[in-house]
Amino acid sequence: MDISVVVPLYNEAESLPELTDWIRRVMREHHFTYEIILVDDGSKDDSWEVIQDLKKGHEQISGIKFRRNYGKSAALNVGFVAAQGDVVITMDADLQDSPDEIPELYNRVKNQGADLVSGWKQKRYDPPTKTIPTKLFNSVTRRMSGIHNLHDFNCGLKAYKKDVVKSIEVYGEMHRYIPVIAKWAGFSNIQEQVVQHYPRKYGTTKFGAGRFIKGFLDLLSIFFVGKFGKRPMHFFGTIGVMSFLIGIFITVYIISDKLISIANGTYYRNITDQPIFYLALVAVVIGTQLFLTGFVAELVSRNSTERNNYQIERVI
Ligand code: UDP
Ligand code: MG
Repeated sequence: MDISVVVPLYNEAESLPELTDWIRRVMREHHFTYEIILVDDGSKDDSWEVIQDLKKGHEQISGIKFRRNYGKSAALNVGFVAAQGDVVITMDADLQDSPDEIPELYNRVKNQGADLVSGWKQKRYDPPTKTIPTKLFNSVTRRMSGIHNLHDFNCGLKAYKKDVVKSIEVYGEMHRYIPVIAKWAGFSNIQEQVVQHYPRKYGTTKFGAGRFIKGFLDLLSIFFVGKFGKRPMHFFGTIGVMSFLIGIFITVYIISDKLISIANGTYYRNITDQPIFYLALVAVVIGTQLFLTGFVAELVSRNSTERNNYQIERVI
């Protein structure tokens, strides 16, 4: 099978018939063999009934329904597990992404060696309350992840080589960072394609203003886990030891300063009257705590079943 189209959806009943018709039209025109995996993320409208109806007249459609709403990442993850096609394409259900982009995305992955092609909604049809923070978010992500050629990390329209979706795991709200996850997993050929974007035709957006705060925290944790997940001691230990040493250094200074003053018979303050004393105290305590945190984290990761989970590309 050439293509699996994975569509996460939450309360998108009105859009589904149009979306699947459009996908079918594109697939027929280009003679692709394909499947459409509709993942119903616990919709409360009649999306699931619509999916059942659609499936009757369209054998390439399959549907997966969550009992409750788990979020877009969970829906994508389940779709990735089910996907059989050589190229896996994800798109939103709300008709904001255009299926007309599929042939070019497919071509890039299949014939031009891309591991992942991410869409770029260069001209967006969303309110400015969304587009401006998004710009900021993208530039921070670009800098932190070192993927400098992407402008739009969170674009719903993306294409993957099958290997990629089978070796990454998307959870929480990590769907915003799939390119970063893929990069950490060792897939380095990440490309971008400018895509058409449309205003939402039916229904409303599913993400409120909270998306930016959560998004940023997710970025920090992804960055941290990717870099230090397998060796937490290197992170906590380094700053812990540094802080501890600074504290000790200051302590030695305070004590010797006082001893010298006593020996010379000059005036001296009580150690507890010196602000720097408290600095030393805090630095030593925090340093010790960080060191212990690193140690505990090391024990935790040692016990993890994932500790020797590596991405092996080939063996001969
Ligand atoms: N979605 C989902 N589960 C959720 C929220 C959203 O599957 O909990 C789907 C939604 O139905 C849509 C896609 O994720 O197909 C993108 O959502 P939306 O269009 O609301 O996001 P926006 O375009 O505003 O970024
Ligand atoms: Mg949308």
